[in-house]
Amino acid sequence: MANSIIIIGAGMGGLSAGIYGQINGYETQIYEMHTKPGGQCASWRRKGYTFDACIHHFFGCNPNSSVNQMWNELGVFPRELVKLNECTSVVSHDGKIFIDYYNLKKLKNTLYKLSPADSKTIEQYIRGINAFSSKKIDDAINSGSMWKLIPVFLLKPWIIRWFRMNMRTFAERFSDPFLRKAFAELIYSNPDAPLFFHFMRHVGGKNGDIQWPVGGAAELAQSIEKRYLKLGGEIRYNSRVDKILVENDKAVGIKLIDGKELRADLIISNADGRKTVVNMLDGKYINDRVQNYCTPLSDETPFAVNVCLGINRDLAGEPSSLVLLLDHPVTIANHKYESIEAQLYGFDKSMAPAGKGTIKVELPARFSYWKQLYNDDRKKYNQEKHKVAEQVIGILEGYFQGIQNQVEVIDVYTLMTWERYMGGTQGWFNFPNRKLDFSMREDFSDKKFKTTLPGLSNFYFVGTWATAMGSLAHNATSGKTIIRRICKKDGKEFKTQP
Ligand SMILES: Cc1cc2nc3c(=O)[nH]c(=O)nc-3n(C[C@H](O)[C@H](O)[C@H](O)COP(=O)(O)OP(=O)(O)OC[C@H]3O[C@@H](n4cnc5c(N)ncnc54)[C@H](O)[C@@H]3O)c2cc1C
Repeated sequence: MANSIIIIGAGMGGLSAGIYGQINGYETQIYEMHTKPGGQCASWRRKGYTFDACIHHFFGCNPNSSVNQMWNELGVFPRELVKLNECTSVVSHDGKIFIDYYNLKKLKNTLYKLSPADSKTIEQYIRGINAFSSKKIDDAINSGSMWKLIPVFLLKPWIIRWFRMNMRTFAERFSDPFLRKAFAELIYSNPDAPLFFHFMRHVGGKNGDIQWPVGGAAELAQSIEKRYLKLGGEIRYNSRVDKILVENDKAVGIKLIDGKELRADLIISNADGRKTVVNMLDGKYINDRVQNYCTPLSDETPFAVNVCLGINRDLAGEPSSLVLLLDHPVTIANHKYESIEAQLYGFDKSMAPAGKGTIKVELPARFSYWKQLYNDDRKKYNQEKHKVAEQVIGILEGYFQGIQNQVEVIDVYTLMTWERYMGGTQGWFNFPNRKLDFSMREDFSDKKFKTTLPGLSNFYFVGTWATAMGSLAHNATSGKTIIRRICKKDGKEFKTQP
């Protein structure tokens, strides 16, 4: 039976494993390379403005959802939330705007006004959203268990077609040129994103499961950290783990980069999987499956270059998320864009001084481009960041006249910034290279949750490498799942409250 657990990383998975570990009588310690908790769940302040690097959609705000229960256990609630009226909005260069309202009546009216000729597709869109308004689907997708979807498919076999479609294929159903373009952009301007995810966002927004946590990501992470510390957990910041110590194929401790060695009965890694497997464990515990997971991801990376702006302008009346369709493609830092997406935080007064506003523009880019620039010439890298900000502000000026002269603070961060603060092989983009589809059901079924490495005992993964999901809720759930498994192994009843 295990007594002590060392956790590498204070991201969602690490903090959650720490909390459930403490609740269940294990002595846990978290070693975190950064000075703050949260990992990707990050935001920071600059001259009175808060820049949030993470949250677009915070699931689990509806008290009836299973995720909400976990957030309560993790100390996330009570907290002030803002319920938004709309998902993503899209505006054309000539001022045509589509607001993707959560209220279906309002949404339908908006779409009919924009293109009555598309009545068939509009009705399909509304039906699609309604089809996903089911607690069973919500639970199945939130738990990450594809098995739980089988009863849904048996009851509503036609729903499968929505799972097969992406934003691009659905957008092509519209005859109106503006809506064809707009629909392809609705999920983070990624036409290949799955349509069902968009439907889930709609349902969450409508029933209050998706809301905005006032103050942003860092405050949310701090609440979880507070809960962990209150339960007696310990976090060591500025503590980068270099190696996982192994004896007789059993993980027994860690070595920090300053050479200090620490021991525990179990080791849980919340760090980037590739770095854990290849560097911390010297590539010794690998099979074909793990080898495949470790192969490089696509060089084109979402949210790769980000421009945060503090603006002397009230953004309270603006949409929360706005895709700007450009009248002609624009090249920014060696990358061509046909649209740019801006998050406008006018809905949360705590994000900026009174009467002012915060904007974030997130651009996909090639990882290799920024990596090379950063490695070869730091001065050029900084100049390129500056140029990106100038171009982005220039584009925003076309949609928000006068904004150019209202910019008070500029903060540009890239995948290299993520790498500096939280390790990672591709900045924040640390997914195992595996497809999230039904062929992955073994990995995602509750029983066969693959979070270990072949041939190595007393070691587990939590977080992105365990779930392959870019979601706060899924990665926090992975910490809970692992401690439940450890309790089962130790013959203990799993508890969620002390
Ligand atoms: C731009 C962006 C937007 C997002 N938007 C949303 C959203 O709207 N809704 C949503 O639900 N999710 C969103 N996510 C995803 C969500 O934030 C992540 O899935 C989640 O936070 C990842 O948690 P994790 O457990 O994998 O840990 P991570 O956040 O990956 O944290 C890992 C931790 O390990 C630490 N670490 C790494 N290496 C070492 C080492 N060697 N030694 C010590 N410590 C180490 C890191 O510093 C870090 O703190 C977004 C993510 C990003 C980047």
